[in-house]
Amino acid sequence: MNSSEGVFSITRLCSFYIRLIAIIVILLMSPQPAVSETPELDRLTSSMLAETPITRDLQQLCDEIGGRPTGSKANLESVEWALTKFKEAGVSAKKEAFAMPAYWGERSCETTISGDVSFSPRTVAMPFSAPTPAAGLSAPLVDIGLGTEADFTRVGSKAKGAFLLVETGELLDMAGLFQGFAQAAGIEKLAFSAGAAGLVYMSTRPRGLLYRYGASLGENNKHPLLIMAREQANRALRLLRAGKNLTLTAKIDVASGGQYQSFNVIGEIPGAGKPEEIVVIGAHLDAWDLGAGANDNACNVVMLIDIARQIKRLGIQPKRTLRFILWNGEEQVFIGSWEYTRAHAEEMDRHVMACSIDLGSGRILGFFTNGRQELIEPVNRALKPVTGLGPFNYIDQPIVGTDNYDFMMQGIANLVANQDPHEYAPNYHAESDTFDKIDLRQLKINGAIMAALAYGFANMEVAWKRQTRAEIQRLIDSTDLKKQMEIFHLYGGWLDGTRGRN
Ligand SMILES: [Zn+2]
Repeated sequence: MNSSEGVFSITRLCSFYIRLIAIIVILLMSPQPAVSETPELDRLTSSMLAETPITRDLQQLCDEIGGRPTGSKANLESVEWALTKFKEAGVSAKKEAFAMPAYWGERSCETTISGDVSFSPRTVAMPFSAPTPAAGLSAPLVDIGLGTEADFTRVGSKAKGAFLLVETGELLDMAGLFQGFAQAAGIEKLAFSAGAAGLVYMSTRPRGLLYRYGASLGENNKHPLLIMAREQANRALRLLRAGKNLTLTAKIDVASGGQYQSFNVIGEIPGAGKPEEIVVIGAHLDAWDLGAGANDNACNVVMLIDIARQIKRLGIQPKRTLRFILWNGEEQVFIGSWEYTRAHAEEMDRHVMACSIDLGSGRILGFFTNGRQELIEPVNRALKPVTGLGPFNYIDQPIVGTDNYDFMMQGIANLVANQDPHEYAPNYHAESDTFDKIDLRQLKINGAIMAALAYGFANMEVAWKRQTRAEIQRLIDSTDLKKQMEIFHLYGGWLDGTRGRN
């Protein structure tokens, strides 16, 4: 062996080892096929994001059935429609009857303004508005400003026997909506103790848009309550402020009646491990009928049906029982969910979680944990597999305004999805809450998020417990919950034990 051969061999040997090491390094560094920790949930969320019948279902509910106030023919149709949808998906479903305290529906509503200036503004009757005599009810139209105590002092005895026209700010967001609820409750009280004949609210939405909600007294209201197109109400206010005398004649015809039967629709996937423990995920079927109740809340009804459908299609067996509940009577202060907590009193201890989704099709920003801070960690755990669809944040305040209420007052862990309200708020209960306002892409994404939540709570270890009445009382005392309850006339029911945990 000569020296040059030796050098050659060493070089060759070195390059062999270098290549070998390089190959090993490359193999070690190359991405391994990812092994998911939640393959079953991944299949579920992927199928929620893929093509499903959700759009067709939504079109049927919005366009073929339309607005569906509790007690209406359309509402009964929607109950049967939902039952069929669950059954077609292979999900066992039933309708559960409960009593609604009183029926109300508008037949017609016409108003004319006469006096120094005459015109016919567009108006609708608010829910539970009293009717007028067939010939109409005429009374002076009086500017009550924003309806504050100072306004009532200014108007004094002129409020008696008058239609009071209430100026409103334009509705921009959810805070404005809840502020409006609170103001209306106060205005009704002041107006009718001053002997007003009726109340006329300026619409909070511009360009002639009308909507229907409110009457904080519900079926106990005794007076005509109207909402007038914003531009026409502003015209009347300008005239009144310029010193003109105006008379409003209202002809309101309503269909009203006493107790009647309504139904919640319950689609159930029985638990494979702990069937006695229950996770509720709910959205409400009913909607006032000027529009189609698309964002409030048809989109989430069809989403829940879609989640149940995909779980069934994929043969997923959750550990706990999943109940997909489509509530009725929500727009009359959550009566369907209240009646559910009463009818299922024996099972309440075994309700692990009740989730509500009721803010349309805007992006899910996170969840209201309703004074249950201990829920933030488990919700995060449930949503970990869909982190990419977030970020999610939490507001740990009790919220009164949808079907979580009676679960909260029963001490059951409850969540409400917090969503981007940019389509929900301006169309809230209005003629414009129609299919075309739905963000169909986001609705699919929200479906994947809610599927992850339902799956997570059906399968995870649970450390939290049902709260006692004393603990619920502490929640009332340490937050603004009492104030919210009073706006919806719910506080008395808590005190006398008719609503909430005894
Ligand atoms: Zn709603």
